[in-house]
Amino acid sequence: MWIAALLAITMVLTAGCKSKTEKTDEKNPYGLEIIASAQEYFQTVEADSSNLLVNLEHYIPGIVLDIRYATENNFTGKQIYTAPEAWLRKEAADSLLAIQKALNQEGLGIKVFDAYRPYAATLYFYQVYEDTTFVAAPWSGSIHNRGGAIDLTLIDLETGKELAMPTPFDEFSEKASHSYNNLPQEIIANREKLHQIMTSHGFTFYEHEWWHYNIKGRNKYSLMDISFEELQKIEKKQPNI
Ligand SMILES: [Zn+2]
Repeated sequence: MWIAALLAITMVLTAGCKSKTEKTDEKNPYGLEIIASAQEYFQTVEADSSNLLVNLEHYIPGIVLDIRYATENNFTGKQIYTAPEAWLRKEAADSLLAIQKALNQEGLGIKVFDAYRPYAATLYFYQVYEDTTFVAAPWSGSIHNRGGAIDLTLIDLETGKELAMPTPFDEFSEKASHSYNNLPQEIIANREKLHQIMTSHGFTFYEHEWWHYNIKGRNKYSLMDISFEELQKIEKKQPNI
């Protein structure tokens, strides 16, 4: 009798482990350390308040969002995000706030194409486009998954129009590189303007994409796979965490 009971317990335990492993593998096939629940996220913020992800639309007055992955107007041709939102770790958001204020003095502003990106999107992007110059390697994860990267451009505050840049956002070509200079002087100056203001406020540039900037010390932040809906719920429930 006790053998049957022991067998039954073992079967239950094995079944439990198996389903958990299958679920983890599908969402995290490379076995990375990924923060994937609100509870885990709370713990990281409690341990270090700079881990807080900030909603840029609420945090930076006048910031313009054009979150392409929440539309079909992106390189995948599909809507990836369920909400057009931009979230960034607090230190990066503070730097961006200072940048927006400085730009506003000159009649310019920020338009954001992408910021924090749940890891699930990085897995999908690589399935669509397997060139790790332009799409993050899913086996290491993107700095966007860490909430430490932003894709952006400059706009004229009066017209709301984007300043002319070397390529559209996410054009995966050599023209998108910072070292590509076969361009009109005005465009080089606009790219340089963005580069100058970002790097003077603690961001580093990415050579192959004029629109992509990383916050310094980005690797201290964990990879995350928490949806925008989950972040919204957290923000409503615990606005001051
Ligand atoms: Zn980027």
